[in-house]
Amino acid sequence: MNNTYYGKLIYELSQPGRQGYSLPENRCAEYKMSDLPKGLMRENAPLLPEVDELSVVRHYTNMSNNNFGVDTGFYPLGSCTMKYNPKINEEIAAHREFTGLHPLQNPLTTQGALAVYYFLQTSLAEISGLSEFTLNPYAGAHGELTGLMIMRGYHMERGDMKRTKVIIPDSAHGTNPASSAVCGLDVVTVKSRPDGTVDVDDLRPLLDDTVAGMMMTNPNTLGIFEQNIGVIAKAVHEAGGLMYYDGANLNPMLGKVRPGDIGFDIMHINLHKTFSTPHGGGGPGSGPVGVRAGLEHLLPNPRVVKVSEDDYDYFKVECSDKSIGSISGHLGNFGVMMRALAYILTLGRDQLKWVGPLATLNANYIKESLKDVFELPIGGVCKHEFVFDGLKDKSTGVTTLDVAKRLLDYGFHAPTIYFPLLFHEALMIEPTENESKQTLDEFIRIMRVIAQEAKDNPEMVKSAPHNTPVRRLDDTQAALHPIVTWRELVADSQVADSQVAE
Ligand SMILES: *Cc1c(COP(=O)(O)O)cnc(C)c1O
Repeated sequence: MNNTYYGKLIYELSQPGRQGYSLPENRCAEYKMSDLPKGLMRENAPLLPEVDELSVVRHYTNMSNNNFGVDTGFYPLGSCTMKYNPKINEEIAAHREFTGLHPLQNPLTTQGALAVYYFLQTSLAEISGLSEFTLNPYAGAHGELTGLMIMRGYHMERGDMKRTKVIIPDSAHGTNPASSAVCGLDVVTVKSRPDGTVDVDDLRPLLDDTVAGMMMTNPNTLGIFEQNIGVIAKAVHEAGGLMYYDGANLNPMLGKVRPGDIGFDIMHINLHKTFSTPHGGGGPGSGPVGVRAGLEHLLPNPRVVKVSEDDYDYFKVECSDKSIGSISGHLGNFGVMMRALAYILTLGRDQLKWVGPLATLNANYIKESLKDVFELPIGGVCKHEFVFDGLKDKSTGVTTLDVAKRLLDYGFHAPTIYFPLLFHEALMIEPTENESKQTLDEFIRIMRVIAQEAKDNPEMVKSAPHNTPVRRLDDTQAALHPIVTWRELVADSQVADSQVAE
C-alpha cells in the first residue's frame, strides 16, 4: 500500500502555484479591501497547502484507509460496546426535516422532533423500568453528573445536608469517581470479593447517615452479574441513600432485567453504546438519565411534556424551578436520539429481547474457547464481556500490551487492556451481539496463534505491530501532547508518528 500519497501530510504534497479550483476574477477585490480596517488586514498570504483536487481526494481517502472501525473489522473493545451501527439509522437521522431545525424555533413548528424526543424518553422508561427520562445530557459521564445532581437535590430538598458520601466499587469505571468529585461529593470505595462482585460485608460498615447513595453497574465491569443486588439496594435504602445505575452495561440486560425492578432509583443510558451510534474519538454521544417515581420533578430543564386536549395531543417545552437546573444547551444531541429511536423501532419489542442473550452467548463462547491459553481469573458464566489476566504462560515475558499490538497485525482491533485495574494484565473482551460465529472463530484462532507465537518467537510478538501504517507509538505522549496542527519542522520521527496517530 505504498504510493506517492501514503503516509504524507497534505503540506508535503504542496507544489508552489498548484491549485484545485478555478474562480472568476474577483471584481470586488479593491472595494472590499478598502473597507477593512488597516489593523485587521493580513500582510502575508495564509500558509495553505497548494494542491490539486485529485491529490486532496487521494490524500484523504488514503488517510481514511488507515482508520479502524466497526465497518472495517472486529472491534472487541470491552466496556465500549462497539456494536454495528445499522446504516438505516444514519439515513433517518440525516433527514432534512430534522437536521434543518433550530433549537429556539417555536415548538408549534417542531412538533415532529418533540414527538421523537418524547417517544424515545417513554421507550427508555419502559425498557429500564423507571418513571421518566431526560435526554439532555451529552454522554455517559455527563449523565452520571446529572444523576448525582438529582441525588444531591433529593437530599437537599429534605434538608438532609450531611449526605455527601458516594459509595463506589473498586471495579468501577473511572468516570464514576470523577463525576462524583465534579458534583462535590466524597468518594468512598467498597472492595470486591475474589469473584469480582461487591463485598457486602465491606459495604455494611460504610452505610451511615452521611451516605448520599451508591453507584453501581450491573453486570459489573468484569461482566459478572451482581447476584446480591437486592440485598445491596435494601441496605443502601435503609441507610437513607439512593441507588445509581451506571447503564453503560445495559446491553446484556436488554429484554431480561430492568434496573428499576432491581432497586435502582436513578440511572443513565449510553445511547451511543447500547442503542448504536458510531462513537469513539470523542463523540457524538448521548447519556439520557432516568429516575423512579417521586424524583421526576428534579430532572433537568428544559423538558418535553405531552399535553392531551380533547381529540389531539401536542408537545410543549417546559422549565420548572423545582428542577436541578439546566445541564446542556437546549435538549441534547438530537441526531443520536434519532439513531437510537430508529434502532429500537427497527428491532421492535420482540427482537430487542435478543440483544442481551446473544451478546452474552458470544462473550461466553470466546471465553470458553480461549481459557486454556489465557488466564481466566474469574470463571463461571459472564454476561456481555469478560476479563483475561494475560497469557497463561507468563514465562515468555509477552505481556497483554504485546498481544494487543500483535492482534493489529492480523486485522483485529485490540480488546480493552489494563482495565479494570483489579488485575495486572487485564484484557477485556466484548464481542457484542452482532458478530457471526465465523468472525468469532477467526478471532479465537488468531488469539491461539498469538499464544503459540509468544512461545516460539517472543521477540517478534514484543515488537509488534509489524504490518500497520505506524509501529508502536508512545501512547502517553500522543494522548498528553497530541499534535493536531501542521508544523513545518517536525523534529523527530516519534512526534511525526503521534501526528499520524491523530
Ligand atoms: C463508557 C462508560 C462510561 C462513560 O460513558 P461516556 O459516554 O464515555 O462518557 C461509564 N461507565 C462505564 C462502565 C462505561 O463503559
